[in-house]
Amino acid sequence: MRMSRYFIPTLKEIPSDAQIASHQLMLRAGMIKQAASGIYSWMPLGLRVLQKIERIVHEEQIRAGHLPLLMPTLQPAGLWRESGRYDDYGEEMLRITDRHNRDLVYGPTNEELITDIFRGHVHSYRDLPLTLYHIQWKFRDEIRPRYGVMRGREFLMKDGYNFDVDKPSAIHSYNRHMVSYLRTYQRMGLQAIPMRADTGPIGGSYSHEFLVLADTGESEVYFDSAILDLSFEGRGVDYDSREECARHVDEWTSHYARTDETHDPETFEHEVPASQRRHSRGIEVGQIFYFATKYSAPMGAAVANAKGERVDVHMGSHGIGVSRLVGAIIEASHDDRGIVWPPSVAPFQAGIVNTASGNPMTEAACDRLYRELATSGVEVLYDDRSERAGAKFATMELIGLPWRITVGPRGLKSGQIELVDRKSGLTESFAPDRIAGELRDRLSASGLANAS
Ligand code: ATP
Ligand code: MG
Repeated sequence: MRMSRYFIPTLKEIPSDAQIASHQLMLRAGMIKQAASGIYSWMPLGLRVLQKIERIVHEEQIRAGHLPLLMPTLQPAGLWRESGRYDDYGEEMLRITDRHNRDLVYGPTNEELITDIFRGHVHSYRDLPLTLYHIQWKFRDEIRPRYGVMRGREFLMKDGYNFDVDKPSAIHSYNRHMVSYLRTYQRMGLQAIPMRADTGPIGGSYSHEFLVLADTGESEVYFDSAILDLSFEGRGVDYDSREECARHVDEWTSHYARTDETHDPETFEHEVPASQRRHSRGIEVGQIFYFATKYSAPMGAAVANAKGERVDVHMGSHGIGVSRLVGAIIEASHDDRGIVWPPSVAPFQAGIVNTASGNPMTEAACDRLYRELATSGVEVLYDDRSERAGAKFATMELIGLPWRITVGPRGLKSGQIELVDRKSGLTESFAPDRIAGELRDRLSASGLANAS
């Protein structure tokens, strides 16, 4: 992409209502624009990141055997009356009446709608287990929308729902979700800690929230630092194996990790050696639930089991805050000059800066490099504007692309182009015909594909 043809409406002034780094940086980098309180338009650069995150979420869900579908944002209120949540959900739910006087809700979540889909079509244990999910906009009329996309009113969520014939099978679904979520966050360069949670308005028996540590997080967290050493790097997962999934989950949940809602100081002190006790803040980036027959029983979602008896299906639901993750990743990865994107979610992998616009030699070199990189599949943003070099560097640092290629007249004369690592600041020089290859080597070393 050539910057002269792109649309990055950067801001010079930090808006006063933007209190945390991610909100400020997203506005300054022209990633989002507020439309109304807690409601945002996603500008081209922001959308690229959002879509990268979505793609990783899809890949890991599909890998775990879960099936994507797409449910609407508007739902008939009748389903919510059946489950009893129409009144329970309170003022966060946006209720709408259409021209025929029919009640609708803008979905804050989808347990009712998915249960309705299920009960209309699935009647036998032979069709189970089944996990369906979608990535769709939600609306919750939050009393205090704040921190930009972190706590919006309209926000993008991946929500999934499992249907199983009995509890052991549903627990396996729960474990599969925990493993697939941990892998998902890790691929985005985040360390998310599963913490035992209350079940809230979703209800149910088991729940874990996934928290990313950040000073600006809204949750207070207590955990054993040993959990920070765990990783899925280099581990394959057999999602069909109940034993294996349970082993991974045991490993991740054996260490104390709770939010203030479930924290128990006595257990914390008893279980965790003093040197490993941590108390900090975190951002909730996902939550999983097992709630047995809470929705299937009142809504009549039952199947025939192997003995021919009709049994209510066991369900769970699972959510990832897709749009919140954009903010969470920035909170976890930025410096005083701007965003530092992990390569897997960066809007472009590299930027090219021509330090002497108008100079035929540097322009020709940039054009050649830009074409070479673009045709070999590298996502590259070429700053071809007639701005001063300093302004171009500042924009590149702000938008945080992992690599910057700097082409200047002096360097070119001595046969050198610079490659700068945004994260470390390390600068290396290469001959013009080697630079594309060097960049591609570094991109593949950063484990972008992470297909294992
Ligand atoms: P919170 O406690 O932060 O209000 P929640 O527990 O009500 O969130 P869930 O129902 O668990 O939210 O939704 C799944 C995920 O969706 C959350 O883990 C979070 O990452 C994201 N999410 C929830 N509410 C919002 C919001 N208002 N804006 C952006 N993301 C949100
Ligand atoms: Mg939650």
